[in-house]
Amino acid sequence: MNSGRLMSLAVMLTILAAGAALADSTTRLGCDSDLDGDAQVTVNDVLEIVAVWGTPDHDTDGDGVCGVGEILQVLAEFGSTCHPFTNGVIVTMDYDAGVAIVQGTGLADHPMGPFDGSEGCFNPNTPTDQNFTWRIPLNPVYTNNPPVNLLNTFGAVGVCTNGVSWYNPYDGGGVDAPSTICMDEFNAHPSPDGSYHYHQASDWAYPTDASGHSILMGYAFDGYPVYGPYETEGVFAKDLTGDMALDECNTHSDPVRGIHYHAISFELDQSGFPWIAGCYRGVPDESNFMGGGGGPPPGGCNSGCGAAMAPPPVCMCLQNNPEYAYCCTDWDIYCCIQAQQYCGYNPPGGGCN
Ligand SMILES: [Zn+2]
Ligand SMILES: [Zn+2]
Repeated sequence: MNSGRLMSLAVMLTILAAGAALADSTTRLGCDSDLDGDAQVTVNDVLEIVAVWGTPDHDTDGDGVCGVGEILQVLAEFGSTCHPFTNGVIVTMDYDAGVAIVQGTGLADHPMGPFDGSEGCFNPNTPTDQNFTWRIPLNPVYTNNPPVNLLNTFGAVGVCTNGVSWYNPYDGGGVDAPSTICMDEFNAHPSPDGSYHYHQASDWAYPTDASGHSILMGYAFDGYPVYGPYETEGVFAKDLTGDMALDECNTHSDPVRGIHYHAISFELDQSGFPWIAGCYRGVPDESNFMGGGGGPPPGGCNSGCGAAMAPPPVCMCLQNNPEYAYCCTDWDIYCCIQAQQYCGYNPPGGGCN
């Protein structure tokens, strides 16, 4: 075939594919035919195939040559967005490195806060643009010995489809955040560095698909997806037994979704620890833990309380008084006195000095 005929073939296929208007409800990261790595399958990818037609380049169907097989693949995927991210999150694909590169502000597309105590949650921090870049493996690698201990990791350990990061169960001081630290109505709050984050399922991840299984909430940094709380209508995945029981990482597997985590929230089930994940089931991309995100690891909302060994209820009590909210990050003798007088605090050694 000469290139002129190939071009007209490409144009014809493009028109056909555009007419097909394929529904795109992927929860998958990456497309076979996204040859230019822009996370969409467009006419540009068709042209990439045409340009190397008959050569071994772009042999995505594995038959040794770029040809009809690749055109059929691009037709099947034409018009697809090769990722489930929303909220202006920018996704590009590095297929050679095997990662989706996810960039965004980390700010939610739902209301955040208020954190001034007017609706019961006081937090001295404010959500700010984090300008983060995360790398999510396209082909997760299962392991029983993950190189990163998720429960010991500060800061983001995964990212949701709306670009908001999610953390392990703990805030600074080692307190379980969902059960002890106040959150806004979408179950999130900001760190001292302004990074808005979830430690548990957010309300927007409660809906289910037609099968009754929860919708996708996001990804762990090992590339495995995180779904909301339900396995089937009204049944929490955490309550399953037998083959489908969640493992210590909070994952199980099914034929549709493969290996996936299930998140739950304190408001749905107070015994939902570890809330999103207890460990990584796959090998995470470690670049995410080396300053890939929003600056230094956040100390969390309770680092001051933690340093003073004040128990979570004492910290909550102090945080609920705006005048003493600073105590949650910067403990001093006035915090101690206030906590002792009004919050049932017994200082180590018995006195505040
Ligand atoms: Zn937190
Ligand atoms: Zn499931």
